[in-house]
Amino acid sequence: MIAQQEAPIIHIANHRKPTPPVLEARNLTVTYQDVIALEEVTFTIQRGDYVAIIGPNGAGKSTLVKAILGLLRPQTGSMTVHGRGQTPLGYVPQHEAVNLQFPVTVRDVAAMGRLRQIGWFRQPGKRDWAAVDEALDRVGLCNLRQRQIGELSGGQRRRVFIARALAQQADILLLDEPMSGVDVTGQAQLMDVLDTLNAQGLTVLMTTHDLDLAFKRFGKVMALRRRLVAFGTPDEVYQPRVLEQVYDRTLTTWADDREGQVKVLIDEHGCPDHDH
Ligand code: ADP
Repeated sequence: MIAQQEAPIIHIANHRKPTPPVLEARNLTVTYQDVIALEEVTFTIQRGDYVAIIGPNGAGKSTLVKAILGLLRPQTGSMTVHGRGQTPLGYVPQHEAVNLQFPVTVRDVAAMGRLRQIGWFRQPGKRDWAAVDEALDRVGLCNLRQRQIGELSGGQRRRVFIARALAQQADILLLDEPMSGVDVTGQAQLMDVLDTLNAQGLTVLMTTHDLDLAFKRFGKVMALRRRLVAFGTPDEVYQPRVLEQVYDRTLTTWADDREGQVKVLIDEHGCPDHDH
């Protein structure tokens, strides 16, 4: 789907088999005092979608994430979440909420995802720890589970937050600029984890400034600039007029060579028995 500032001009026919919607935005408008951050945004995310949300600074990417999380109330329009379970949305924040000096382990942070199942004043039980360790295993961090969170690299910390979402049994993962401050190896590991989780059925939405990543690795790209400019497969969205509309100029640097990506394997794998 490609839209102009006023109204959609082209609808790309979608012949793929439809899967159930998990998120539906309808004419969503979000403002901060006198700033319109999102205007009349309409889209549907289907179960299993793998979506990169792109756009320049101030395009409304973080605002959209907050609107999906229900942290911001739309001025008009609606955002509907159809996820499974009580807490379908798992969030990997841009600036981590955990104080890195605070003596809390990787396992403790991932266990926060179980709070709803555990209840605030109870101790986690065997089932909870098993779910936490399984989640850490899925993100390749089981061997680091007793580490203090502050000892981890930026990329590993992002994976702890993904584990927290998995432990809470989220089926939609929202990541806000997870690659910022993460080195190249950490980024590659993070992307491998996201690819695997998406292949296993998790719906993933990630805001990013990295257009190379967005167009090469994701199944769909959402181009935002206050309005939804385009939403579709990378090939559908990768069009000069879309990019001009989003970025005010033609960008061609990442056009070629969608092949030849080097995958870096995660080396912390292997989760021994679940002790606690
Ligand atoms: P992005 O994540 O794409 O950089 P944001 O969603 O952060 O964009 O911001 C969208 C617009 O809303 C920008 O114009 C920004 O200045 C404004 N904005 C974001 N947060 C606030 C806020 N708390 N108060 C006022 N304006 C805000």
